[in-house]
Amino acid sequence: MDLDRLINDRIRDIADYPKPGVMFKDITPLLADHVAFAGVVDAIVNHHGRGTIDKIVGIEARGFILAAPVAYHFGAGFVPVRKKGKLPARTYEETYDLEYGTETIQMHVDAFSPGDRVLIVDDVLATGGTAKAAAELVRRGGGEVVGLSVLIELSFLHGRDRLGDLDVHSLVTV
Ligand code: 5GP
Repeated sequence: MDLDRLINDRIRDIADYPKPGVMFKDITPLLADHVAFAGVVDAIVNHHGRGTIDKIVGIEARGFILAAPVAYHFGAGFVPVRKKGKLPARTYEETYDLEYGTETIQMHVDAFSPGDRVLIVDDVLATGGTAKAAAELVRRGGGEVVGLSVLIELSFLHGRDRLGDLDVHSLVTV
C-alpha cells in the first residue's frame, strides 16, 4: 500500500464523539502503525526541510505526539501549548470561541529566544480557532511563526481562512 493510502486507511471515523452530530477523526490506529507514524513525521519534516527552524510548538494533547519527533528531526526545541492551568511557570494565554463556550490555551512567557523561527504542529485543523490562538501566543512570546503543519485538515470548516497568510500544510484534506 502506498504511504498516502496507508495514512488515510489508519484514520478512523468515530460518529457522535465527543458529542452527537460530530464525526471525530481518531488517529490512534495511525500512531500504532510505525510505518504510517514515521511517514507522517517524515512528510512534515520534508515539507519544511529547507529553512532553519528553532522551535516546534505542539498543541495539547495529540499535537505533542507529532511535534516531538519533528523537533528531534530538526534538531529543534519543543515547546508545549497547553490548556489553561497545566503549565507551572508564568504564561501568556489566549481565549477563543468553541461551538459551545470558550477554550483558553497557555504557553510559558520564556519559551523562545527573540526571533526564534517556530513551526506549530497539531493533529487536526478544524475551525482554526486553536491554531490562530497558538500563533498569537508564539508572536507574543517573541517567536516568528514560519508555518503550521497538521495531519488532517477539515476543509469544510474553512479553518485556513482564519489564519491569514500563514503557511498551512496538511497531509490529509477531508
Ligand atoms: P479547531 O480549534 O481548529 O476548531 O479544532 C482543532 C483542535 O481540536 C485540535 O487541537 C484537534 O486536536 C481538536 N479536534 C477537533 N476535531 C477533531 C477531530 O475530528 N479529531 C481529532 N483527533 N481532533 C480534533
